[in-house]
Amino acid sequence: MARYRRVLLKLSGEALMGAAGYGIDPEVLRTMAAAVAEAASGTGLAIVVGGGNIFRGVSSSARDMDRAQADLMGMLATVMNALALVEALRACGAVAHVQSALAVGTAVPPFDRRRALECLERGEVVVFAAGTGNPFFTTDTAASLRALEIGAEIMLKATKVDGVYSADPKRDPSAVRYRRLGYDDVLARRLGVMDATAIALLREFRVPLRVFDMTSPGALARILEGADEGTLVEEGARCE
Ligand code: UDP
Repeated sequence: MARYRRVLLKLSGEALMGAAGYGIDPEVLRTMAAAVAEAASGTGLAIVVGGGNIFRGVSSSARDMDRAQADLMGMLATVMNALALVEALRACGAVAHVQSALAVGTAVPPFDRRRALECLERGEVVVFAAGTGNPFFTTDTAASLRALEIGAEIMLKATKVDGVYSADPKRDPSAVRYRRLGYDDVLARRLGVMDATAIALLREFRVPLRVFDMTSPGALARILEGADEGTLVEEGARCE
C-alpha cells in the first residue's frame, strides 16, 4: 500500500553511470528504471534528474568557460539524462513524461506545473529536466523547488550509501549513520547532504527529506510504503 500520494525523488546523474565513470550505462539505467517503475505505482512520483555524469558547470573541464555558459551545458546534460530515463521507464511499462525548465524546441515539452500535477494525479511519472532553468543553481535545489511546487509530502534523495553519516564512511571507520536529523543539524554540521539552498527551502516549507541507498534492491518501493530506511531529515528532529 502506498504511504504517500505525491513524492519528489532526486536522482543524481551518477545514479545512471556505470563503471566507466562517465555517461549513461544501459544496464544501470535499466535497473534504475525498473526499480522506479515498480515502486511508482500508486504514488504520484515526480523525479528531478541531475547531470553530473555528463557535465557540471563547476567541473575542471569547464574551468576556462564562463560559468553561466558552463551551467547551461550542465542543464542540457540533465535533459539527456531525463530523455534516457523516460525511455527506460516506458520500456518497463510505466507511463512517463519529461518536462524541461529550459526551452529545448520541439524535443522536450516545457515545464508546466498544472500538466505535471494532472499526470501525477493519474499515477504517471513526471521527470523534470534542466534543473531550475537558471545558472548558479544545482539540481538538488531544483528538486526542493519542484517538491514545493507539486506539494510533495516528502522528498527522497537517492544515493549510493544507506543514509547520512557523521563523516565519509569510506575514509573514516568511526563514522556513524544518523537515523534522524533536523535541517539545522545538516547545515551546522556541514553534512553535505545537499547544498544549503536546497536544505533551506525544505526547512522553510517543512518538507521532510529522506536520504537512502537507491542501489539496495527494493529500497525505493519499501520507502514509498512507509519504511523507515536511511536518514530522515525533518523539522524539530533530535539528532540520533
Ligand atoms: N545546473 C544549473 N542550474 C540548475 C541545475 C543544474 O546550472 O538549476 C547545472 C550546473 O552546471 C550543474 C549541472 O547542471 O553542475 C548538473 O547538475 P548537478 O551538478 O546538480 O547534477 P548531479 O550532481 O545531481 O548529477
